[in-house]
Amino acid sequence: MPKRMNEQELLLSFKQAMTEPHIFVCYQPKMNYATGRMIGAEALMRWKHPEYGMQYPSDFIPVLEKNGLLPDADLAVFELVCRFQRRCLDENIPIVPISFNMSRYDILQHNYVGKIEQIRQKYQIPVRFLHVEITESSAIGGAELVVDVLKQLHCLGYVVEMDDFGSGYSSLNILKDLEVDVIKLDMRFLSSGKGGRGGAILSSVVQMSKWLDTPVIAEGVETIEQADYMKSIGCSYIQGYLFSKPITEEEFIEKLKRTDHEPVQPPITLIESMDAGKFWNPNSLETLIFNHYVGGAAIFSYQDGEIQVLRVNEKYMKELGMNMCEKDILNANLWEQMDDANHKIYETTLRKAIQSREEESCDTWRTVSSKICGEQKICIRNSLRMIGRAGEQYLFYTLVQNITAEKKRFEDVSESERKFRFAAEHANIYAWEYTVATKQMRPCYRCMRDLGLPPVVENYPEPVIENGIFPEDYADMYRDWHRQIAEGVPHLEAIIPLTVGRVPFHVRYTTEFDENGKPLKAYASATMVVDGEDEEKQD
Ligand code: C2E
Ligand code: CA
Ligand code: CA
Repeated sequence: MPKRMNEQELLLSFKQAMTEPHIFVCYQPKMNYATGRMIGAEALMRWKHPEYGMQYPSDFIPVLEKNGLLPDADLAVFELVCRFQRRCLDENIPIVPISFNMSRYDILQHNYVGKIEQIRQKYQIPVRFLHVEITESSAIGGAELVVDVLKQLHCLGYVVEMDDFGSGYSSLNILKDLEVDVIKLDMRFLSSGKGGRGGAILSSVVQMSKWLDTPVIAEGVETIEQADYMKSIGCSYIQGYLFSKPITEEEFIEKLKRTDHEPVQPPITLIESMDAGKFWNPNSLETLIFNHYVGGAAIFSYQDGEIQVLRVNEKYMKELGMNMCEKDILNANLWEQMDDANHKIYETTLRKAIQSREEESCDTWRTVSSKICGEQKICIRNSLRMIGRAGEQYLFYTLVQNITAEKKRFEDVSESERKFRFAAEHANIYAWEYTVATKQMRPCYRCMRDLGLPPVVENYPEPVIENGIFPEDYADMYRDWHRQIAEGVPHLEAIIPLTVGRVPFHVRYTTEFDENGKPLKAYASATMVVDGEDEEKQD
């Protein structure tokens, strides 16, 4: 246990330490938890007293503050950071942006930004490699000054991070007034962590930051649970003991060499047609619709072929029907649930939706597993729409519908029927099957695809007359055909102009009877009339 110095002693020896290399900087990496890459680091002041040993900021910074020494100490730290970045550039060591702390006493100084700039220029460090951390509390009482300093820093190109966000009472209000570029949210201020009030604050801040287009870094992250939770609410930038304590310059260089790094990505901007503010506001109508929408819905990001689910509503979980909790769903890897064929269908549809900017849909099978239900194969109809993009990162909204039962029923149709449908598909004709007793019509795949028909059409032929596939002037004739079939007419055919385009088609029906001669089904087909056939057969 090092001995404690009294205030006078501390001041004297600190002044001396600044002239000798007893003040140094430790670096604490900031990571992207989703990719494992480093996004930057924070510079933290350290003082090794020759006699009293290591001193920590919590002990000496308040004394420096009180005695007006902090600005000089901070400038000394800034110079050490610039010297370090210079070394990285000169020695080809991978370089990441390093943030330095700027206290409210620094801000109150005359021309503090000018002094910083002088140092930066002395070492010729591109401004993008230096970030400024300003605490939330520095705005209290001197908001105008802070706004002014922020403007100066922004003009020079510095990225400004709001430190210790969540420690004050007026946090959310401050964000409206101070245009910071990054928010640092301290987990220690929200000790209840996951769930409860702390959780609610964390997730609303993360949501709000998206609304403000400001990335969030969670700091003070000590456990995997905390990191997982932050990721689940859409924040994967993390700083804390879980990844690394503040480390010395040499240790940090080793880490820089070993770890990949990446820039902080701005959150996604929503496309014009959506009101981003409303979208993320927990009380907005949009959120209400999202949560209470009749069907399952999810929001996910898509980048470099990877999908990350960000938000799901309750119905989404019900639709998957696997008794999974939200966290399991958010953490699940969609691609691992799909085989290659389904993966391909899904990604093709995503690309189509990016191109068209319209809703695109596809049916895909996935194997989902949950603790309660085990493993199960389900078929999901996905309706996908892109709602935002930032560079190569896309934000998607998807509505999901579990159509496993429907698909299974469809798959259960007899082998002969399947062959029949298959043949139809290959013979380039539209085919369907009509069941006399139930008035149900089952279309071939091509009918479903080209005409938008469902797998089973009830009360046939009324729906296709209603939607104009069979035009009004042929409606009575077509209805009469179905009566004739029910009475046992074995064969019917005619040329009928189909769809609104009135394209002439050769329509044929062949009736199938049971052993007693009672009509069971009719097999129908429609082939487009090619030139010449028209006159030949119309008479
Ligand atoms: P800060 O700016 O919020 O810095 C983060 C502090 O949290 C650091 O303490 C860091 O070591 C600690 N920390 C990081 N991860 C964890 C974690 O997972 N769990 C826990 N329990 N702590 C973690 P440190 O270095 O003792 O600094 C304390 C404070 O002193 C800083 O808080 C900052 O307000 C101030 N400070 C440090 N260096 C400077 C500086 O150069 N200039 C100024 N003005 N203030 C500084
Ligand atoms: Ca800080
Ligand atoms: Ca902090």
